[in-house]
Amino acid sequence: MGVSGVKSLRGSAPVADLIAALTRDVADFPTPGIQFKDLTPLFADRQAMTAVTDALADVVSGADLVAGIDARGFLVAAAVAARLGTGVLAIRKSGKLPPPVLSEAYEREYGPATVEIPAGTIELRRRNVVIIDDVLATGGTLGAACRLLERGGANVITAAVVMELTALGGREAIAPLPVHSLSRT
Ligand code: AMP
Repeated sequence: MGVSGVKSLRGSAPVADLIAALTRDVADFPTPGIQFKDLTPLFADRQAMTAVTDALADVVSGADLVAGIDARGFLVAAAVAARLGTGVLAIRKSGKLPPPVLSEAYEREYGPATVEIPAGTIELRRRNVVIIDDVLATGGTLGAACRLLERGGANVITAAVVMELTALGGREAIAPLPVHSLSRT
C-alpha cells in the first residue's frame, strides 16, 4: 500500500495494516540484496505509534524489565516500558557502553555484530525480562540478546517485534524463546 495509502486506514485499523501502510521498503540497503524495512514513518505517526505500543504492551504484560535492541528497538522498548510501568534496559552495539560489559557475538542478515549489556551494575537475577526490537530477520540479534541476558541471570520470558520477515527463519532460529510479531511479511 505504501505510506501514501495510510489516510484510508484511519479509525479502527488493525495494527498490522497500519504497520504495512507506514513501512517504506528500501531496496539494496545497507548492502546489495537486502530489502530494508524503514519503520521511520510508523514511529513518527501518533496513531500508529500508540497502536504499536498498546499492542506490544498487551503481549509482554508479564515483564518487569523491558530490554530494547540498539537502536530502533530503543524507541519501542522505552514506550512499552513506560506503558507497563517497568524499567528499560538498552542492549547496545559493541563499543557504546563503558566497562565492565558482557558481550555476545553473532551473525546477522548483513554481517557480523556484537551486543553488550553492563556487567554487574544491574540486577538481572530473578527478573522477568522481555526483549523488543523493530524487525526480526534471521534472529541472530534476538538470539544473542537472549543469551546475553540469560548469562546475566535474567529470566527471558519472550521477545516481541513490530515486524517479522518470515522467509528468513528468525522465529525458528530463536526457538524455544517465543516471539510475538505485530505484523508478518
Ligand atoms: P537479525 O539479527 O537478522 O534478525 O536482524 C535483526 C536486526 O537487524 C534488527 O535490529 C533490525 O533492526 C535489523 N534488520 C535486519 N534486517 C533488516 C531489514 N531487512 N530491514 C530493517 N531492519 C533490519
